[in-house]
Amino acid sequence: MTYNAMPLSSPPTETFKEKLVKYATSDKISRYWCSTCGSHVANYHGSGGDDQWKVCTGAIDEVLGEYDGKLEKYTGHIFVADTRDGGLSVCLPDAPSYMEDAEGSPSKDTKKELKQLREAGIHDTGEEMIEAKCHCEKVRFFIKPAENGKKLQAVLCACRSCRLSLGQPIVSWAANVPREQIVWPDGSAFDGNPHQSLKVYRSSEGVERRFCSTCGASVCFASNKEPETLDVAFGILRAKDGSLAKSFFKWDTEKIPFLEDALDQDLFTLVKRNLSALEDA
Ligand SMILES: [Zn+2]
Ligand SMILES: [Zn+2]
Repeated sequence: MTYNAMPLSSPPTETFKEKLVKYATSDKISRYWCSTCGSHVANYHGSGGDDQWKVCTGAIDEVLGEYDGKLEKYTGHIFVADTRDGGLSVCLPDAPSYMEDAEGSPSKDTKKELKQLREAGIHDTGEEMIEAKCHCEKVRFFIKPAENGKKLQAVLCACRSCRLSLGQPIVSWAANVPREQIVWPDGSAFDGNPHQSLKVYRSSEGVERRFCSTCGASVCFASNKEPETLDVAFGILRAKDGSLAKSFFKWDTEKIPFLEDALDQDLFTLVKRNLSALEDA
């Protein structure tokens, strides 16, 4: 849903790389993540002499020396067309966006292209369930709509635990999804017990986070304070209407929980100012 990364001026050490799991998401890009908690820490983009290492900004926990709350300077959104609805880029409308056309060349007219997608009726796909599937596809399940037709909640979280567990500063959740609405592809209950491709990380007392043991994608969050529900990582949802899955979810445009925890306060000030765009998009 979001992937924030900043370039490193020199490659990381071998010891750094050895501590992490490498997963190639394409023939050019490899992502490095922690096998214990699933946090995505760095990525490597190598394309014929144009190598670039980047560090995931959510994995940064402290800035040494004087710090004014501004960690990142946004230079743009990439692959916005993949989201079909703009995704979280709608909350940072002033950063340049790069759509990719059929030939793979960037086009900067994001607003026009998103308007075309909307006019094509992307929020009315007639989908009955949302498929959730990680990048490597080993973790796959479905979320069913509520019987009363009520939309599920979607929320952005700024808490330190989410940030460090995913390696991303802004984390989106399908929040408080009743467990009976989550099923494996064969229709059996997603009971939260470790599936063979799921790994569990207890990020605090009574909290279990699950992630894919092959690609490191975050999958879900369970707290024993709310045993009837699960939060599902929004990034693995594959709703046909787009990454915001608005035919199934109502986004919370009023608040961002744990805003005070955000390391990059400047980023959240911008996102909060444009939060209503999640519903308007
Ligand atoms: Zn996976
Ligand atoms: Zn959180």
